[in-house]
Amino acid sequence: MPNQSPKVLVVSFDGGVWSNLIPLAKAGIMPNLKMLLDEGAHANLESTIPPVTPPAWTAFMTGCNPGKSGVFDFYQYQEGSYKPLLTTSESIQVPTLWKILSDGGVRVGVIDVPINYPPPDVNGFIISGWERPSNKKVFTYPPELGNKLIEKLGDYPICLRTFDRQGTKDIDFLNNLIDITTKVGDAALWLLETEKTDFFMVHFQTTDIIQHSFWSQIATFDFKSSDPTMVKIWEFYRHLDKYLGEIKDRLGSEGTFFLVSDHGFGPVKRRMAVNVWLKDNGYLKLKQDIGTQIRTTVKSTAIKVVNKVDALARLKNRIKRKSEEDLDQRIIVPRAAHDPIDYKESRAFSGIGTVYGTIQLNLIGREASGIVPEREAEMLKAEIIQKLSNVKDPMSGEPFIKAVYKKEELFSGSSVSRIPDLIVIPHTNFYLFSGTQEKELFHEAHPLSCGNHVPEGIVAISGKWASKFDLSSPMITDMVPSIMDIFGLNVPDYMDGKSLLLREKLLA
Ligand SMILES: [Zn+2]
Repeated sequence: MPNQSPKVLVVSFDGGVWSNLIPLAKAGIMPNLKMLLDEGAHANLESTIPPVTPPAWTAFMTGCNPGKSGVFDFYQYQEGSYKPLLTTSESIQVPTLWKILSDGGVRVGVIDVPINYPPPDVNGFIISGWERPSNKKVFTYPPELGNKLIEKLGDYPICLRTFDRQGTKDIDFLNNLIDITTKVGDAALWLLETEKTDFFMVHFQTTDIIQHSFWSQIATFDFKSSDPTMVKIWEFYRHLDKYLGEIKDRLGSEGTFFLVSDHGFGPVKRRMAVNVWLKDNGYLKLKQDIGTQIRTTVKSTAIKVVNKVDALARLKNRIKRKSEEDLDQRIIVPRAAHDPIDYKESRAFSGIGTVYGTIQLNLIGREASGIVPEREAEMLKAEIIQKLSNVKDPMSGEPFIKAVYKKEELFSGSSVSRIPDLIVIPHTNFYLFSGTQEKELFHEAHPLSCGNHVPEGIVAISGKWASKFDLSSPMITDMVPSIMDIFGLNVPDYMDGKSLLLREKLLA
């Protein structure tokens, strides 16, 4: 085993957050995590703006902000079109850690990290993340690894989405999350055993899904509860911890271990639909034609029928999805079948955004049916920013919006054009979404998602270099430079992140 041990071993929990992981460690539900915390160093890891899975993991993989990496959300703007483009591994505009390490002669193994479909070719192997459409497509590099994996493990499931819980029993849904965690953990242990790698990373997406679905229950920390759902939730974390321990045990004495997440989690106090706000304030108009009404009616009838389909059968069938369209439908917030915005009458709109809000001006010469002249753009942005800053939570009267930024204030790089003009950041535990189909401005937590993302993710380090890291204010973009530093590779100037390894301690 020692000669097979990677020099850097990374485990990632999507949406992992200390506010629940530390109580779970202290309560004895996650003893391996407790050991990691006791023997190493840990801190919050600052996510991207927005703290959403695709830009955050892309920042982890590239060391770059979304303006350089080209990945801002699940979708990107396309100039000249109102239909945003789905984010895939091909959206990434700068080299990833896997590519950098591969080119540096480092052999890599990467399992289930998001935004790796289609799978890129590397020096080593890679298994695409949960956005892969189906196992009938090539989802690994090298391609034959996919079949070997399925042969070895029986199957290799794609992680469920939050919306897959609709119509299912909580216990069935949780059992499915445990099964998926098992397969990913077993895949990692098998590949650690059989493949020699210098850098190895395994990602668990199930942590994000359980927290979206059961945050209210998790945050009770009622570890003694006899309620079957609660018992099953703690079973999930016990199970996850078992794999954390077994994977971490594969690290040799010369290795460094990281546990990381892309963003944290918290409760949902209230949500606001940005397009409803734009409509109420006279910036956006909806189409009123009969066609829109008919299409909306057909869609809502279809949803009712789908909801009646046997839940377990749907869970079992979900990996059998075939068409390319499935890729779109796998996204956390499914896109509306029909866009009701009347762009010929709208000065601004929100086409993307799931945690923070975004607003795009409908500019002449940039958008397909733009109506705002360039010379009015800055004034319009200033007016919207000023009005948004007055928005109050309807229940508490607290300010809802923390800050509104113009994209150029936050981002730099050649892919800034994919990012909306304004980024609307809510106060803690308030959320924004584009809400094109909504009628009401404010919404309670979605019935299927009582938890949502916060910017504070996690990083814990143990092993050879643990004491040599500056963890005073680490950012997710710092991970690539830090890992490159461990491998003795020079960090290029274009990266936004910096190595967290302390020079003076390295020499000591
Ligand atoms: Zn995430």
